[in-house]
Amino acid sequence: MAILTKLATWSRVKSPWVLHFNAGGCNGCDIEILAALMPRFDAERFGVLLKSTPRHADVILCTGCVTKQIGSRLKRIYDQTPDPKFVIAVGTCASGGAPFNGCYCSHGGINKIIPVDMYIPGCPPRPDAFIYGVAQLLAKLQGK
Ligand code: SF4
Repeated sequence: MAILTKLATWSRVKSPWVLHFNAGGCNGCDIEILAALMPRFDAERFGVLLKSTPRHADVILCTGCVTKQIGSRLKRIYDQTPDPKFVIAVGTCASGGAPFNGCYCSHGGINKIIPVDMYIPGCPPRPDAFIYGVAQLLAKLQGK
């Protein structure tokens, strides 16, 4: 059983499949995530692969403060992602709500709705910050 767990961790670290979800941001962070996945920054060289369904994802990349409309959907997407799953909050809005904290239409940071494993600050964070954050998460997975 231990060998199977090791194999699963190895495969997850070698190729984390990510789901990108905008919970109510301005799209600035989303553009930077896409830039990180494109050939110039090439996050795919670390095995990072964008998936379109939570059922195939290991990591949820979430941007934006959570609007009241999207909160229940974010929770549903989190529940649909198989365990073990990891959540990265990308940008200041996702990390703590930023200027929308306390706003009538916003829950604030995504940790108000789902647990977060990694925060990548910035408005928006640069693609290399995003890649660094993913590398830190993978190191955490390996127990480093
Ligand atoms: S952190 Fe900045 S760039 Fe990202 S969604 Fe919020 S306002 Fe937009």
